[in-house]
Amino acid sequence: MRYLRISVTDRCNLRCRYCMPKGPLRSEAGDRLAPEDIGAVVDAAIPFGIDTVRITGGEPLVRKETAEIIKMISANASVRNIALTTNGTLLGEKAAELEDAGLSSANISLDTLKAARYREISGEELLSSVLSGIKAAKERFSPVKINCVVMRRVNDDEIGDFCRFADDEGVVVRFIEFMPHLDCSMEFFYSKTEIIADIRERFGEMTEVEGPQGLGPARYYKADGLKNPVGVIASVTSPPCFSCNRLRLTSDGRLLPCLYSAAHFDLKRELKDGGNIAYVLKAAIDAKGRLCAPARLNMNMAELGG
Ligand code: SAM
Ligand code: SF4
Repeated sequence: MRYLRISVTDRCNLRCRYCMPKGPLRSEAGDRLAPEDIGAVVDAAIPFGIDTVRITGGEPLVRKETAEIIKMISANASVRNIALTTNGTLLGEKAAELEDAGLSSANISLDTLKAARYREISGEELLSSVLSGIKAAKERFSPVKINCVVMRRVNDDEIGDFCRFADDEGVVVRFIEFMPHLDCSMEFFYSKTEIIADIRERFGEMTEVEGPQGLGPARYYKADGLKNPVGVIASVTSPPCFSCNRLRLTSDGRLLPCLYSAAHFDLKRELKDGGNIAYVLKAAIDAKGRLCAPARLNMNMAELGG
């Protein structure tokens, strides 16, 4: 168990339609774990092998304390890598503060390079802010990865554009299979096989290669006509269950052994009652592989942290 994903808020300044199909969440600030509680969970997780922490959300950069949380985690010498997953809209203005706090790498979610389409998908006209965020991240963090959820008849025509964008910008693009929620149809689903076929058609033969630094579930491929390898995350057609090395902590203190299951352990209660955090972490690790449900989401991704 090396990887702890921490959602610091379920709030977001975007409304990506694939992420919040039931509309925005309504958590209160008081529901969130305090920075020192998050620090205590990280400290307790180290003996189990955790050495990489990813800060996510909702949108982590809408929470004012996010840099403070990163600073607290980076003070723990056993944490080798602190990464961020962000929609990038606020990264341009916050990148320097995050670097000072100890952030080392950034994944930026971007599903289209077209301004009008960005608004359709996310509800806001903020493509230029994301592009500024990518520029600021490139100056400070490594690696910088772009996460693109591919959706049929929404953005599947941009796979080639993203590959070229990644080559031009010197970043890594990762295409993610759209994960349907329990209450929505598969109409947007676009498989890894289709993604690979599209890239091969445009850029020639592809060979599987070692990816850049990271503990994630992406497999990487190098196409003859591209400079950089391209990542694909087959969350639906090939869920990485057997090699899964991660735990998820929600912003309200639930510890989730598995992305595909709502089963959780209540760490917030344990923190409030001065209970044994290590005991709960151990229980969650032991539960891994036993609680998994079919590859459909039964919570908003903004609640799960991706
Ligand atoms: N707000 C941040 C962001 O957008 O990067 C962090 C949280 S977001 C929930 C984390 C990741 O989950 C993003 O890369 C997003 O694209 C992905 N995601 C959200 N809903 C998804 C879905 N239904 N299928 C696949 N990926 C999804
Ligand atoms: Fe917000 Fe990220 Fe979900 Fe989009 S994918 S609504 S940016 S949490």
